[in-house]
Amino acid sequence: MSDTAVERVSRLLEHIAKSGLNAYVTPGGEAALSQAREADRGKRPGPLSGVPVAVKDNISTRGMATTCGSRILEGYIPPYDAHVVQELHRAGAVILGKTNMDEFAMGSSTESSAWGPTRNPWDHNRVPGGSSGGSGAAVAAGEAPLALGSDTGGSVRCPASFCGISGLKPTYGLVSRYGLIAYANSLEQIGPMGRSVGDVARLLDVIATLDPRDSTQVRDTPRGGYLASLDGTDLRGLRIGLPREFLEGADPDVVRATHDSLDTLQQMGATWEEVTVAHAQYALPAYYVIAMSEASSNLSRFDGLRYGLHLPPGAKDWSTHFSDVRGQGFGPEVKRRILLGTYALSAGYYGKYYLKALQVRHLIQMEFTRLLRDHDLLITPTMPFPAFKLGERIQDPLSLYLADVDTVAVNLAGVPALSIPCGFSRGLPLGLQLIGRPFDERRLLQVGHAYQQATKHHLARPPGSAEAGGFST
Ligand code: GLN
Repeated sequence: MSDTAVERVSRLLEHIAKSGLNAYVTPGGEAALSQAREADRGKRPGPLSGVPVAVKDNISTRGMATTCGSRILEGYIPPYDAHVVQELHRAGAVILGKTNMDEFAMGSSTESSAWGPTRNPWDHNRVPGGSSGGSGAAVAAGEAPLALGSDTGGSVRCPASFCGISGLKPTYGLVSRYGLIAYANSLEQIGPMGRSVGDVARLLDVIATLDPRDSTQVRDTPRGGYLASLDGTDLRGLRIGLPREFLEGADPDVVRATHDSLDTLQQMGATWEEVTVAHAQYALPAYYVIAMSEASSNLSRFDGLRYGLHLPPGAKDWSTHFSDVRGQGFGPEVKRRILLGTYALSAGYYGKYYLKALQVRHLIQMEFTRLLRDHDLLITPTMPFPAFKLGERIQDPLSLYLADVDTVAVNLAGVPALSIPCGFSRGLPLGLQLIGRPFDERRLLQVGHAYQQATKHHLARPPGSAEAGGFST
């Protein structure tokens, strides 16, 4: 790139202001420009020096509003940076802005944001996926070369699939969650998003560092070297499993694109066979019980006293006051989940729902362990269909939950998964999901990169894209 960081950041901020995608809740403005100026003066050295990175709005940024797409956090400005944001600064990156998301990351369409939906750059009448839909749309439309999302049950992979970009849900315990505002702690990870697998690897190298502040991080595993692992296109000896349950009920174009991708990988030397995940049908209900239970506990900290939305307490008792704040501050989907989660954890129902879900989770973990012993990776569609229309599912929560059928088992098992573009259906991108062994991100990225050397799906750009610059290997 011949332009300066300041030129690039100003150009992107201008584009963001007028594109109409609503990918950003808070564009970086003067703070981003001043980081870019520092980079141009050589004062922000590092592997991402001067590179703009978009950050999902549930990742804390010091001095920059962080709302989780919710009114209850309106006006909240964190006094500290998340670990991953500290690492971005240390790598010389420019924080380009905070991206739109489903409220508290609960959703698969970015329609539950209090700040209005984000549009899919490929078709403005369609959703970008969710919950990291702002990050997905921004990268696809060239409004940022790189972005961070978070993935509790698919929230990095779903928007990657719907927007035609690459995105990784790292192994549970690889990336620090310090400063990520929790939705369901036992499931989520922060994940890198970019146009190519090379960009995803580059960003993972920066964020997957050790952090004593997250006690759930796994310490004794090798970290880093992700970009360096992208060598060659020879896949001889690679054994792939195709879980047949994940193709049942998928759109015929999705099934076709998955098989075409397997053909491509086979031509590069890999072998594949169909496998069975016997408990696959229980993943979705188990996921939603666990995610909602954890959410009901996590979201109790939002009481209108400590952060964000404040209401005058008046003469009411405190419990009425808290109900008023929460009644006004939370949107309908968040309320639904707090209620359902509280119910699943309540005396008499705990064993029937929460404990049962944990048992199913254990069975699914064991099945993935077994399948990933005999296979180097599993391949499935990321989503069962391409991006749907805005408004099509939002009134029917169950139909939205069902969209996550191919992504949630990965979070229950804690294993890593990469989504990469693998074709189009009626002009809309489709995603392929590569599921790997715990902490085997290098292999997922290597195979994804090899696939992108042999195909062109990831190079397609939606109409009206900006030129984000950056890498795109
Ligand atoms: N759609 C899923 C849910 O609503 C996943 C969201 C996520 O990964 N944050 O829970």
